[in-house]
Amino acid sequence: MSTGKINVAVENIFPLIKKFLYSDHEIFLREIISNATDATLKLKHLTNIGEASVEYGNPVIEVKIDKDAKTLSIIDQGIGMTEEEVQKYINEVAFSGAEEFLDKYKDSAKDSGIIGHFGLGFYSAFMVARKVDIITKSFKEEPAVKWECDGSPEFTISPADKTERGTEIILHIAEDSEEFLEENRISELLTKYNKFMPVPIKFGTKEETLPLPEDAAEDAVAETKTVDNIINNPNPAWTKQPADLEEKDYNEFYRELYPMQFEEPLFHIHLNVDYPFNLTGILYFPRLGQDMNIQKDKIQLYQNQVFVTDNVEGIVPEFLTMLRGVIDSPDIPLNVSRSYLQADGAVKKISSYITRKVADKLKSLFNEDREDFEKKWNDIKVVIEYGMLSEDKFFDKADAFALYPTVDGTHYTFEELQEKIKENQTDKDGKLVILYTSNQDAQHSYIQAAKDKGYEVLLLDSPIVSHLLQKLETSKENVSFVRVDGDDVNNLIKKDEEQISKLSDEEKESLKTLLEETIADKSYTVKLEAMDSNAAPFMITQPEFMRRMKEMQATGGGGGMFGMGNMPDMYNVVINTNSELVNEILSTKTKKKQERLISQSMDLARLSQGLLKGEALTNFVKRSYEMIK
Ligand code: ADP
Repeated sequence: MSTGKINVAVENIFPLIKKFLYSDHEIFLREIISNATDATLKLKHLTNIGEASVEYGNPVIEVKIDKDAKTLSIIDQGIGMTEEEVQKYINEVAFSGAEEFLDKYKDSAKDSGIIGHFGLGFYSAFMVARKVDIITKSFKEEPAVKWECDGSPEFTISPADKTERGTEIILHIAEDSEEFLEENRISELLTKYNKFMPVPIKFGTKEETLPLPEDAAEDAVAETKTVDNIINNPNPAWTKQPADLEEKDYNEFYRELYPMQFEEPLFHIHLNVDYPFNLTGILYFPRLGQDMNIQKDKIQLYQNQVFVTDNVEGIVPEFLTMLRGVIDSPDIPLNVSRSYLQADGAVKKISSYITRKVADKLKSLFNEDREDFEKKWNDIKVVIEYGMLSEDKFFDKADAFALYPTVDGTHYTFEELQEKIKENQTDKDGKLVILYTSNQDAQHSYIQAAKDKGYEVLLLDSPIVSHLLQKLETSKENVSFVRVDGDDVNNLIKKDEEQISKLSDEEKESLKTLLEETIADKSYTVKLEAMDSNAAPFMITQPEFMRRMKEMQATGGGGGMFGMGNMPDMYNVVINTNSELVNEILSTKTKKKQERLISQSMDLARLSQGLLKGEALTNFVKRSYEMIK
């Protein structure tokens, strides 16, 4: 037996490890299993190139709990280590790595952004163990050795009687870490970090029901057999070639990733590059609907099939964090802070590669089966619209597949829409006026009025639509978007005959005064307009600009930009001077009756804009009952 002192500058490295990484103790298992995997794959490589004259066989990595001895063991059948190698790799490499990590980590101890504390390595075992033993036998013809260390820099090495090749790491679990002696806890960790690691991992055994022979009697009971419980899928879909996978394989893998998710994804994107960086993965578009928040943080980041994190912020562009799936890249630096990560050149390239791939996929889906794409539009639009807003490159590409559905269910691309409305929907400056509604029910009467005039009305109802319109107006030439109940609808050049008001100037003047006195509310500006006699007599509109600013404030962005934090709501009441009701108001003799007609009409107009509330609504209902009695 020999003893030695690990050559570290920090005399007591382990308390430091414990302290700095307190919240992430659980990653020790991932680190040790990663080492076991590396050792196994190294042996595979050596046997492949003929440098190890041993049978590779079907090695597994076993994880074992001994509750009585209070140990957790990780046993591999990999290359193992000779005594000399233990000296070198464990006493020198591992611990210099430890020191380096701590140096780096100390400075950024407050920066919890270091991704998954990756790269801690073997010594992370001391976060949970009071003592660690390594029993190892090299694939070379050399005796097995046992290394023991109790967390102080002293260690011992002695001969061991292990006869099989490989390494056994025995963690004597510390008192404050006994959770790691619980089967459930270890099971949970294995599922989280090791589910797709490339070497089979055994944790306990399970009963498997054998199939009944064909000629079995009706009351025959199927036999069961005890088999190894392998917790991982060593060949997950993303490591395969797209050509070798079918749609059902992708869907199966999706269920493997999200066992609690019953809905199938809409489609997938297989990522696969090896230059100028290495990246594989599969992204899925789930059914998103209108919700932009609940679905985040579902993309898992792996490095060589080892789970790192499900917070891919900075690696995947923000708008794509609503997707699901897996990204695996050894080229993402992980023991750095997130702010560093975002500035990293390779990571930027990865992020724009992903954006490009997503755009290309959307384009090909659109081209291959437009009808199907239109059906899916409602469920994917938030991602696309958000992407158009936040990434200029995506915005440009999206022209090929971004859709603008109408209230009648037609889906136009922007170009098609322009073509369709260019004759009929312009203002006096020749600008294209695109009408849209954000709520078909609430704006029903306005939509009807626009359709009667032959205008196309888009249905744009995602939460960020006002931002997107702003962006489209600044990027596309000569277009403006106007909500169908907006004041600016009146800017449209009326192709049908200009309506002539039947009222004289004096009549108009007195009508306006009467209305203003009766309505008596500063937030409403009375406007007289000669419209078709069938159009609504009273209509409340809001200037597009003002409404959109308010909306944008509510959904973030542009907040307080123009100091409009407390901007009051301002509306126009547009009075159709050609309507019968307005004529009746004018010709009514008693002032009282006039006022009643105006109040009732005003309330109806408010009601159709959802502006009638509280006491005013109660009074309106009461008054209406009085009238029909
Ligand atoms: P890293 O794995 O990042 O090199 P570690 O501190 O985890 O750093 O391990 C240090 C070294 O110890 C490894 O590079 C490897 O040579 C050796 N080692 C660790 N675990 C095993 C194992 N299970 N089998 C063989 N060698 C191992």
